[in-house]
Amino acid sequence: MAKKTNPFALAQAQFDHVAEQMNLDPSVRQILRWPLREFRFQIPVRMDDGSIQVFFGFRVQHNDSRGPCKGGIRFAANETIDTVRALATWMTWKCAVADIPLGGGKGGVVVDPATLSTGEKERLCRGWVDQMWRNIGPRMDVPAPDVGTNAQMMGWMMDEYSKLVGEYTPGVITGKPLGSGGSQGRTEATGFGVIVTVREAMKHLRMDSRGTTAAIQGFGNVAQWAAIHFIEMLGGKVVSVSCWDRHDRTAYTFTKEEGIDPYYLQKITDIYGTIDKDQAVRAGYTVEDGDAWLTKDVDVLIPAAIEDVLTEETAPKVSDRVKIIAEGANGPSTLEADEVFKQRGIFVIPDFLCNAGGVTCSYFEQVQNDMNYYWPREEVLTKLDAKMTNAFKGVLEMAREHDLYMRDAAYWVAIRRVETAMRLRGWI
Ligand code: NAD
Repeated sequence: MAKKTNPFALAQAQFDHVAEQMNLDPSVRQILRWPLREFRFQIPVRMDDGSIQVFFGFRVQHNDSRGPCKGGIRFAANETIDTVRALATWMTWKCAVADIPLGGGKGGVVVDPATLSTGEKERLCRGWVDQMWRNIGPRMDVPAPDVGTNAQMMGWMMDEYSKLVGEYTPGVITGKPLGSGGSQGRTEATGFGVIVTVREAMKHLRMDSRGTTAAIQGFGNVAQWAAIHFIEMLGGKVVSVSCWDRHDRTAYTFTKEEGIDPYYLQKITDIYGTIDKDQAVRAGYTVEDGDAWLTKDVDVLIPAAIEDVLTEETAPKVSDRVKIIAEGANGPSTLEADEVFKQRGIFVIPDFLCNAGGVTCSYFEQVQNDMNYYWPREEVLTKLDAKMTNAFKGVLEMAREHDLYMRDAAYWVAIRRVETAMRLRGWI
């Protein structure tokens, strides 16, 4: 079993590498290497059997020079402060690269949400807000959903915050349900944005998107919509998706060479992103081991599940046919994997550029909350397409100008924007 990379060590190593390359001012470097603020707290929850269970919660605010911190809340059994720090740091770069006026934050709770009843989940969500409400807010720090959390949970959190501050405050949190301050298009925004960046990468590489093939890791929110838009926007074919099987406690890859049907698979996938194996087999899918997706002979690989999957060990198994790796997940590739991709000339769309569609749509949601006026889905997706396309082009231009790997170029763009904001505010 390969040693797991500490995600915050990875985030800092990526930053150090680029800070060196850019010859970044040492004071800027000191500020940006670590989060500005960290909160760790207990959340006592009354369980259905009457007992009290204590959960551990986090919120990390990495940088707010460009605007209020922004970032999701993860409910995961293996959540750690370092995972949250890394994700908060990547949120700073993500908001900056997408050029939205927000900073970076992230939160979490150490819990497997699948073990909780609906009532226990609601009390845990409200408990998280009870601990954090003084330090979040539409002008301070705006949470959102992430792995293990969903729109309903955001609705409960918004309600708890509104009760505590004494007024309806939809802008405190994004990813809310439609009809309760949510935005059209938010559910599909991240997967949609991933495919916009793939489309732009294909134009740059002079590939005809029609008939191209992809394999995807995961079948949760990001992966499902990436699969749908890969097929519908690009005219491509997705041959494999994978998922974590909660019951067998292992990962599987589901393959159909003639192309998966994402709408059918959605129907047999639970809310945690586990595909029903038996039904999939009956529908003609081949079930392979969890890593099989990354060895497929396809044009595009889309890791869209978890971090630390493309490593020194797995990166060499990527097929020679792969031209693009679109990082839908946060932190899927290690530094060693990057070296393999650089040597092989694979075009990598780095995570905080590739999956910025979610936070960009969250920003649109906040804007709509502020105006109390809501846009139709088409308008949201058109605006999102424009933002993602511009973000991609900005990074590509930086890469060309300085002959940089795309991840490094994305860091250059983001760090320069954050540095400028800090200078203009007189922090340095
Ligand atoms: P999700 O919980 O909806 O889905 C996660 C999926 O990954 C599930 O299908 C699960 O079965 C699968 N998975 C877990 N472990 C796996 C493994 N070992 N092998 C194969 N599959 C596995 O989560 P999501 O919202 O789709 O997020 C996925 C990734 O995208 C995360 O890294 C998240 O931080 C990132 N992200 C999400 C958003 C968003 O808007 N949801 C935005 C930006 C980035």
